[in-house]
Amino acid sequence: MPSGASNGGRSAARGGGAGGAVAGPPGPLWIAALPKAEVHLHLEGCVPPSIVGPAGTGRVGVDPAGADPDAPPAFGDLADFLEYLDRSCALVTHGDQVERIAYAICERARDSGVGHADVIFNPEHWPAWQRDLGGFVARLDAGLAAGGQDHGVTTGLCLSLTRTQPPSASTELVDWLLHARPPRVVALSVDGNEAAAGRTGGRFRPLFERARQAGLHTCAHAGESSGPDGVRDAVELLGAERIDHGIRAVEDPALVADLAARGIPLDVCPTSNVRLGVVPSMAAHPIERLRAAGVPVSVNTDDPLLFGTSVAAEYGTCAATFGWGETTLTRIARTSIESSFADPDRRRDLLQALDDYAGAAGPR
Ligand SMILES: [Zn+2]
Repeated sequence: MPSGASNGGRSAARGGGAGGAVAGPPGPLWIAALPKAEVHLHLEGCVPPSIVGPAGTGRVGVDPAGADPDAPPAFGDLADFLEYLDRSCALVTHGDQVERIAYAICERARDSGVGHADVIFNPEHWPAWQRDLGGFVARLDAGLAAGGQDHGVTTGLCLSLTRTQPPSASTELVDWLLHARPPRVVALSVDGNEAAAGRTGGRFRPLFERARQAGLHTCAHAGESSGPDGVRDAVELLGAERIDHGIRAVEDPALVADLAARGIPLDVCPTSNVRLGVVPSMAAHPIERLRAAGVPVSVNTDDPLLFGTSVAAEYGTCAATFGWGETTLTRIARTSIESSFADPDRRRDLLQALDDYAGAAGPR
């Protein structure tokens, strides 16, 4: 149960009133205590500058006195963003850094009412660990276990391939994963620039099939740097259980109807899409149209420390932008838990906590 999930938090969020719901939009305390999951979160976007030092921030030579050492960086476009990301990850060379990064994920999850997080990691971004992937995952596991214990958060890892990497590199990673089978890794994923890679569903299909047969979950980035075709390929060719982003499905009404009918969830990251120019503004973000059309959507951060956001902040931004009330936010939280790769018992407990929380708020 996340901290603050109490009637006290709810009342304070609404500026008073004993117990039950009162009129007005959900406040930040109510949102932060709403039980939820995060299912689109990259380890690479969770590297605090305070762990990698000033060289990772691009602020070398800047007097840090008085400045927040973990303030989000300034970057211009996608290339700038990726350059920053690689620079900071390359500075993670020691196991204790890996453990601290993992532990901090659980701390931030707790602060946003996230009871379970699926964390995507892409080995390509961690050069110091290319020859010791097992050691990297072991240190991640140690940090996530300690953080989970202290903060009541469960986590799974999704090993991600890169759309543009040589096929032999993808195969090597899947071979390693299926041989090592670290228990913390629960899914195979794929990310990277689809616009640069072209349609790669056919190439990755056998790898996803192998992962599925080995009992792993699957998810895939699509419909961010690719259009509706990318989403279709992720569903039809990769058999992805969830689509990371997927928002450009909105360009094809038949696809939207299909996603809704089949209940395929989209793991949407609103601030990321605005910051990286996928959509022109929050008001123009298609999440509301997709939700209204019956597509299951969840709200996530993508890279919280790079975008200076949190899960609770994303919920708050969507509520303010689209006029979402408690009922809609609870529905979004339900989708996040249902679409998570938490084990069935954990999922059931989180859904129960959500029902208790929503029920206590009274009818809306
Ligand atoms: Zn992503």
